[in-house]
Amino acid sequence: MARIVQKFGGTSVADPERIRAVALRVKREIDAGNEVAVVLSAMSGSTNELIRLTEQTAPMHDAREYDAVVSCGEQITIGLLAMALQSLGISARSWLGWQIPIHTDAVHGKARIERIETAELNKRMKIGEVPVVAGFQGLGLDNRVTTLGRGGSDTSAVALAAALKADRCDIYTDVDGVFTADPRIVTKAHKLDKITYEEMLEMASLGAKVLQTRSVQLAMTEGVRLQVLSSYSEEPGTLVVNEDEIMEKSIVSGIAYSRDEAKITLVGVMDQPGVAAGIFGPLADGNINVDMIVQNISSKDNTTDMTFTVASDDLAGAVKILENNKSALRYSDLISDGDVVKISIIGVGMRSNAGIAQHMFHALAEHGINIQVISTSEIKVSVLIAEDYTELALRALHTAYGLDAD
Ligand code: ADP
Ligand code: ASP
Ligand code: MG
Repeated sequence: MARIVQKFGGTSVADPERIRAVALRVKREIDAGNEVAVVLSAMSGSTNELIRLTEQTAPMHDAREYDAVVSCGEQITIGLLAMALQSLGISARSWLGWQIPIHTDAVHGKARIERIETAELNKRMKIGEVPVVAGFQGLGLDNRVTTLGRGGSDTSAVALAAALKADRCDIYTDVDGVFTADPRIVTKAHKLDKITYEEMLEMASLGAKVLQTRSVQLAMTEGVRLQVLSSYSEEPGTLVVNEDEIMEKSIVSGIAYSRDEAKITLVGVMDQPGVAAGIFGPLADGNINVDMIVQNISSKDNTTDMTFTVASDDLAGAVKILENNKSALRYSDLISDGDVVKISIIGVGMRSNAGIAQHMFHALAEHGINIQVISTSEIKVSVLIAEDYTELALRALHTAYGLDAD
């Protein structure tokens, strides 16, 4: 007998028919003798709709009330699945975050799970009851409902799997597993049987939304065995594993993209000590994360241009901060561009192979794609390019690294 946490995403619970199909999948695990806890997302589109309502009602709302509203979608799906399971003769009960409770910090809108109380759930699972738990939500220090950030049900599922000491956490979604690139854009992408935690972490944080970044981090630190698979097919999915479980390591395992990027260039800043600190200090104080940075070489008058990227949502805020500090920073011009995309190649094999980045630059050049900013780390290379070239770049790189399915 194994203990399994099954998580179903928005499309998997999109309507009553899909919810009944989910109930049958849960039943299959129970019939096989396993203990199951389920974590659900809201029906696809419903969280977006709730967010829209908050924006239409009061654009400058309080994050606590935002969480009160946007956490509602999951309440509907867990109740419906508990009913569907009961009608199959399975004992099941729905659980909201506060009822368990799933304790989080008080950072509303992107809270982190701190602790899950499991005594009651354990007791009920032992007598064959299936807990159906609302993903994406928890209980904050201020005793109010919190949410975990978009895609947060993945993190709820992994955290619950760790707390319940489950043997496996299965993430059911609308594709067959983790692919070499987003299969909706790169039709030649193929499913990976296995991917390392480290690669998955990079893929997620660089834009592949198939798993929320925090869920991969948590699975890695808590040693949760994670599997991504489809709720539409019977195909085996992708296992997220330690590096030593993969015999043949590809140089590049996957390609990710993120449109959530904006570029800012400060023209004509002084090329002297303290300038970077002067620019990035006020941005950090304003809670704005800077990602890629490039500084040009000094011109004759000892000034230089500084280019960097921030999240799209932070662009207006960053520009405002930099304009407010213009007299101290003494730049001659500020240019901003929201029409950019970050494309990244990821693979643990990069550690032991030279020339990987060069291959990427060459492939992009061959397609006439200009690289605006570059950043690298041990297992990834990212480039910033014009957004119009997203599809072309992804497909070109996919082919260039030999990832195309036959
Ligand atoms: P769910 O609602 O089940 O949580 P998401 O929409 O959050 O599903 O995540 C699944 C989607 O992630 C897929 O439909 C796919 O378009 C996208 N995706 C992006 N990159 C990848 C990748 N490398 N492999 C698989 N899916 C990916
Ligand atoms: N319903 C939430 C969202 O749409 C959480 C999730 O789906 O994981 O972001
Ligand atoms: Mg998701």
